[in-house]
Amino acid sequence: VLTARDVRRAFAGTVVLAGVDLTIAPGEVVALLGGSGSGKSTLLRILAGLDPDATGGISRTGSQAVVFQEHRLLPWKRVADNVALGVRRTDAPHRVAAALAEVGLADRGRAWPAELSGGQAQRVAFARALVREPALLLLDEPFGALDALTRLRMQTLFGRLHAEHGFAALLVTHDVDEALLLADRALVLDDGRIVEEAPVPLTRPRAPDHPGFGPLRRHL
Ligand code: ATP
Ligand code: MG
Repeated sequence: VLTARDVRRAFAGTVVLAGVDLTIAPGEVVALLGGSGSGKSTLLRILAGLDPDATGGISRTGSQAVVFQEHRLLPWKRVADNVALGVRRTDAPHRVAAALAEVGLADRGRAWPAELSGGQAQRVAFARALVREPALLLLDEPFGALDALTRLRMQTLFGRLHAEHGFAALLVTHDVDEALLLADRALVLDDGRIVEEAPVPLTRPRAPDHPGFGPLRRHL
C-alpha cells in the first residue's frame, strides 16, 4: 500500500533522514520506534505528502489518513462537522454518524471540540480519519498525550477498528509495549536510517477479548 525508497531530508544542512527505505503491505501494522529527535515525525510527514522539500521515491496505492498526537479538530466546527471534513457532501451525514458510533461517540455529534475530554477528542480524530476509509493510516504518537487508562482503551479501540476495517498503519510511538500490543512488525529509526527491523513476536491481541487484558477487560 506504500513503498518509500531512499527518502532523505535535511534542515539547514543537518541531515535528519539519510536514506530510508520502507514498505507497508495492505493490512499490515508497522510500528516506528526511535529516540526523540530521530526523525519519526519528519518521516511520517513525508510519507503523508506534507513535506515538499524531501527527496526520494514514494509510491502509494489507495487513500490515506493521518492522526497526530494532538487531535487537530477545528474548534469552530461541531464534532460531526469536523468528521464530515473527510467525506463528500452527499453521503456525509450517514457516514459521519457511522464513524462516530464506531468510536463510541454516537451521541456527541452536536458537541464542540472544547466540550470533549482529551480521549474523546482523539476518538473524533480517529473517526475523521476512518470516515475516509483509508487503505493506510499514518499515526504520530496518537495515544501519547493520554493518561494510562485512556491510552489502554484507545489501544483496544484501535485493535477493534483494525480488525473490522483491515487498514494498514504506520504507528509512530515511543512505547515498546504499544508496539508489541498493536504491531505486526517494528522498525527502529536512528541516525537517519532504519537500523532495526523485526517481526513482533506476539500474536496480535484480539482486544478486548484477549486474556492478556485480564481483569481490566470489563472496563475497556
Ligand atoms: P519526538 O519523538 O520527540 O517526536 P521525532 O523522532 O519525531 O521526535 P522529528 O520531529 O522528526 O523527531 O525531528 C527530527 C529532527 O529534525 C530534530 O532534530 C528536529 O529539530 C529537526 N526538525 C524537524 N522539523 C524541523 C523543521 N521544520 N525545521 C528545522 N528542524 C526540524
Ligand atoms: Mg515526533
